[in-house]
Amino acid sequence: MPGFEVFGKEEEKEIQDVLKTGVLFRYEFANERQGVYKVRTFEEKFAAFCDASFAQAVSSGTAALKVALAALGIGPGDEVITQGFTFVATWEAILEVGAIPVFAEVDATMNMDPRDLEKKITANTRCIIPVHMLGAQARVEEIVAIAKKHGIPVLEDTAQSAGGRLHGRHLGTFGACGTFSFDSVKTMTTGEGGMIITNDGELWRSMSEYHDHGHDHVPNPGGRGGEKRRFVGSNYRMMEIQGAIGLAQLAKLDPVIIAAQKKNKAALKEAVATTLPGVRFREILDETGDSATHLCFFLDSADHCQRVNKTLADAGCAATYFGANTWHYYPRWEQLLAGSTVSRDGWPLAAHGKRRYIYDPAALPQSAGYIERCLGFQLPVKLSDERLAQMREALKKAARA
Ligand SMILES: *Cc1c(COP(=O)(O)O)cnc(C)c1O
Repeated sequence: MPGFEVFGKEEEKEIQDVLKTGVLFRYEFANERQGVYKVRTFEEKFAAFCDASFAQAVSSGTAALKVALAALGIGPGDEVITQGFTFVATWEAILEVGAIPVFAEVDATMNMDPRDLEKKITANTRCIIPVHMLGAQARVEEIVAIAKKHGIPVLEDTAQSAGGRLHGRHLGTFGACGTFSFDSVKTMTTGEGGMIITNDGELWRSMSEYHDHGHDHVPNPGGRGGEKRRFVGSNYRMMEIQGAIGLAQLAKLDPVIIAAQKKNKAALKEAVATTLPGVRFREILDETGDSATHLCFFLDSADHCQRVNKTLADAGCAATYFGANTWHYYPRWEQLLAGSTVSRDGWPLAAHGKRRYIYDPAALPQSAGYIERCLGFQLPVKLSDERLAQMREALKKAARA
């Protein structure tokens, strides 16, 4: 998933446009900026690319989740359902708005199981966050149908799947809104950065105001600050240099990054399928729309996965064993399970000295059945024939592990 691999002349040129004006900020400085509006242009192009009506750029993917949740009106007393296999940021953002994260099982897609989602909906559920993990689709059509029945908005965490589609439609456009991350390991990168897309003009307006201290971004008497603010906001603004890099990376997303990842994924999949007997691949709902950041496959036991991965690692070709992953897998989120926060009274996991919710590490047995039997290779944009041959040899050895 690495946009950093293709950082080059195009990004440099876009950055130069900003450096020439010296205007590093997305708002104001109309006279000095000489018509250069990189963040605004990035938003327009990103929305158009995804076939969404509006896009709001922010400072990170975590900020995108927080701003989206805040604009949806989520807060203390609310429960937000996400999945037990995601990056910690998904539930950190839920906690940041004061709500309680509830975790649903994942299935063979390695994303939210709609049947378990339905079981976890309560009278307090105010938002559902399916995550399109590792480049590929959650069962978002079914999830949105369930959510509609209950009148609950869906926020798609699309941080790991920029450019991914399901049945021709961009991920992030099925629910009320979709969030993206452009951090160092993502499919396209701006260093740090994030984006939220939506077709709901009112929701977009709230996100735009909230992410910038409540400024309404229309000409006001007395200039910026002359307006009346509708509510308390915060600051999650994106910088012009990030917007500039985003424009260059977005132009490469489909034709360069995803095209290469797809080709490399097909080659590696063939190598895995022909070397590891009994291997089963992760269920991909729509191969055409897969952004192909990862190749994931299941073996028959956790122990077998670890033996295979040890052999692969010894041959210089380690995969990721997600069962041990402390950033992505529920039973390994020790800080969440322990209720550890920086606040003296334990907020937001505790209030007035009392735990608000206890997380049982054994609560997601179905997810354990998939995640602890799974290995995944990250697909690089640049995969040489030599490296592929080395991986094939390592896999042959691992077949005997
Ligand atoms: C990376 C990521 C985020 C957070 O993005 P940052 O830009 O690093 O804040 C959120 N959700 C998921 C699933 C991610 O992978």
